[in-house]
Amino acid sequence: MENTVEEIACAVEKKELLSLMPHELEEWMLSAGEPKYRAKQIFPQLHRGLSPDEMTNLGKKLQQKLRDAFVWHLPVVERKLVSAIDGTVKYLFGLADGNCVESVVMKYRHGNTICISSQVGCRMGCKFCASTIGGRVRNLTPGELLGQVLAAQKDMGERISNIVMMGIGEPLDNYDNVIRFLHLVNCEEGICIGYRHISLSTCGVVDGIEKLMEEELPITLSISLHAPDDETRSAIMPINKKWGVDALLDACRVYYARTGRRISFEYTLIAGKNDSVANAQKLARLLNAKLRSRTESMPIHVNLIPVNEVEESGFRTSGRDAVMAFAGVLESKGIRATVRRTLGSDINASCGQLRRAAMDEES
Ligand code: SAH
Repeated sequence: MENTVEEIACAVEKKELLSLMPHELEEWMLSAGEPKYRAKQIFPQLHRGLSPDEMTNLGKKLQQKLRDAFVWHLPVVERKLVSAIDGTVKYLFGLADGNCVESVVMKYRHGNTICISSQVGCRMGCKFCASTIGGRVRNLTPGELLGQVLAAQKDMGERISNIVMMGIGEPLDNYDNVIRFLHLVNCEEGICIGYRHISLSTCGVVDGIEKLMEEELPITLSISLHAPDDETRSAIMPINKKWGVDALLDACRVYYARTGRRISFEYTLIAGKNDSVANAQKLARLLNAKLRSRTESMPIHVNLIPVNEVEESGFRTSGRDAVMAFAGVLESKGIRATVRRTLGSDINASCGQLRRAAMDEES
């Protein structure tokens, strides 16, 4: 269904119902001459993915007031791919203004984990990543971040218990909306996902990491490191020219000292670029030197991800032997290394690829 220009203009002017915290909804009720308890009726239903018009316990007058004051839009399932291998579900979600983002639900024994997008596109420019090819179109609102979780849950009819912010976009480049989303998703009255079940991944936006540690949210921080030195990292990740490896790891050390939350590192292996034994030795030396001292020793975990080949980048994925050798070097230096299990390999499950495919078909 196409949105009219009027509807889109409206969506910009009116507040989004899904972005409100319970106390804000209560305040609005009072200002609209409604009893406070209405907020307690509405909020849990919103978090089940229902629109105010579907809430049968509200009455026509209140539904009309809500329509006049707010926009409500749940991401619409434009496409859905289900992996025949492992049940991973990939969604292409349509937003109110016609833009699309991707979310992926992975099924683990401990529950369903959703990987959500934080922006439409991305401006970080990592050379191996499909999400950044067309640049950043716009930030997602808190309601759209939450909406991905609600829409997937509603569509699957199953609870989602873990969230990773590793889809399209850089979460720390959409800081305020992401923080509000984290608070929203944690609300007891709503879908109530604990902070310890949420991971946020960043390419290394150091001022964002510094701000994040002040929030005192016990989420898990993941750092997309991908290289053991500035030369290698700057060649594949432009953000490294603003904050180099040293500044990034200093921020990680302080983050751990402040929050006590361990940080996990992601390392995408690209054949011939960053996957040699020498690279692994350098990485081990770097992490041990920067993050481990006699007084404070941070548990370090590196997640190795053989790069998903994106046509435009021309990068090739590392062979199995190179991956195992890399992991072996890290382990021998006391650094836990795991190789990411590939889920949804038959449905192009890595971020940005489905949105690009859909855009190519349209143009
Ligand atoms: N902007 C954030 C989160 C989104 S990307 C970040 O950079 O962390 C999520 C993870 O997937 C990052 O570690 C990113 O570097 C990695 N990634 C992106 N493109 C990839 C590809 N083609 N193959 C493997 N990993 C990729």
